Amino acid sequence: MSKDIDMSTKLKLIGVDVASFGEPFMPVEKGHSIIFENKTKSLYKRINVSHDGKDLLGGILVGDATDYNMLHQIYLNGMTLPDNAEELILGTREDGKSNFGSAIDLPDTAQICSCESVTKGAVCGAIQDGSCNDLNDIVNCTKATTGCGGCKPMVVELVNETLKSLGKEVKETICEHFELNRQELYGIIKVKKLTTFDEVLDTCGQGTGCETCKPLVASIFASIYNDTANKEDVIQDTNDRFLANIQRNGTYSVVPRIPGGEITPEKLIVIGEVGKKYNLYTKITGGQRIDLFGAQLNDLPAIWKELIEAGFESGHAYGKSLRTVKSCVGSTWCRYGMDESVSFAIALEERYKGLRSPHKIKGGVSGCIRECAEARGKDFGVIAVEGGWNLYVCGNGGATPKHAQLLAEQIDNETCIKYLDRFLMYYIRTAAPLMRTAAWLEKLDGGIEQLKNIVIEDSLNLAEELETEMQSLVDAYECEWKQVVESEALQSRFKHFLNTDDRDDNILFVPMRDQLKPQSWN
Ligand code: SF4
Repeated sequence: MSKDIDMSTKLKLIGVDVASFGEPFMPVEKGHSIIFENKTKSLYKRINVSHDGKDLLGGILVGDATDYNMLHQIYLNGMTLPDNAEELILGTREDGKSNFGSAIDLPDTAQICSCESVTKGAVCGAIQDGSCNDLNDIVNCTKATTGCGGCKPMVVELVNETLKSLGKEVKETICEHFELNRQELYGIIKVKKLTTFDEVLDTCGQGTGCETCKPLVASIFASIYNDTANKEDVIQDTNDRFLANIQRNGTYSVVPRIPGGEITPEKLIVIGEVGKKYNLYTKITGGQRIDLFGAQLNDLPAIWKELIEAGFESGHAYGKSLRTVKSCVGSTWCRYGMDESVSFAIALEERYKGLRSPHKIKGGVSGCIRECAEARGKDFGVIAVEGGWNLYVCGNGGATPKHAQLLAEQIDNETCIKYLDRFLMYYIRTAAPLMRTAAWLEKLDGGIEQLKNIVIEDSLNLAEELETEMQSLVDAYECEWKQVVESEALQSRFKHFLNTDDRDDNILFVPMRDQLKPQSWN
């Protein structure tokens, strides 16, 4: 395919990132393909390279399209490939940098924004000659990022790197609509008591908002007022808008809350009956609850209604919010148990359920130092010891596992909750968007010792305020599934099609181990 007619594109198809550029499908005489596939993570990446391995001829990315911009630029600009071309699709290195350099390494002629025909030279030149001073100026001046928006990460990188090379300060702003960081925006919304996205834009933003700032403002509303995701659903991301996680075939998963992993036989039967009635695939999650996969969008309110009538509520598995507080069986059953870990885990999960935050939050409670609940792999973890509980904070599993760090020793239930209120509210107030507690602590000047000063010694004189804020959120909690079940107006958004109530019959399933799974696309 001629580079003059560039059909390259990056899209989200039924919740899956896909992208292709150049010649995604290429005859074997032109070159060879390098393929990376991880079925567990639903990833497929292929690049087509010339026989001598020097030229990138095209490619296709499914499941993760973050490398698209740079691959597209390498293709468009005919840049020579590195010796180990396979590294182009193997993701980022441990230092977080791309395997093939940064946007600043591209030639000045590289077309960064295809929609508005803006080159790297135009972006960097405008910063260097002083006609633009930040991303906002670049957007207004060149119109870069105003089309599909796919070039935005590269434009941001070019602006920041050029500013740094000139010795100028780089401010971490939310997006071109808000020249503020999250903490500053949180403060303005709180002090001015703003309650709608339009009010926030009018007060301290510009333009109409984007996919970055809209969910962020929704999250801040939730963190200040405990607004549920049903308020201003148009500014929520897809999962929050439909109160469920969209899956690879466009269906949704339903996860009712099961505090502390404790569930009665009667409730287990209800989950089984709902699963059978709606043909759902059921699986126990790592957070000690039951996930029901394969729900059609228009079935969600009916499924929730049956679950709510049985005493369940939303598990917020889709939100940047508290997920679960995992527990071991503790002293109730275990002969090593030093305290009732299940009871305390349930108390903590009931207290913080629905708490929206910069990223997801997980907790754990173990009945002794054998740590069967893996509490030190959580954002907050509590372990029973002689004389009380040890409280650990800022751990996580996932791609970059971190052990939580000891915040307080041998404390009672009441003190533990007090410290957790302060810690969580301080994190919610000050963390950057999508920053887990471990990364937040790494960035906090003084680290864990400073956090101890703030939470235990009240060095910022904020403790009472943080506790009061948390209590007001706890008191304002409402189940957002229940809100939908009780409101015909809210139910109207759970439709596959705008003009009909028809189900989507194109969603296909195949049997697997006595259940149904999505039909594979490859
Ligand atoms: S952590 Fe301790 S109390 Fe809990 S189940 Fe394991 S051994 Fe028993």
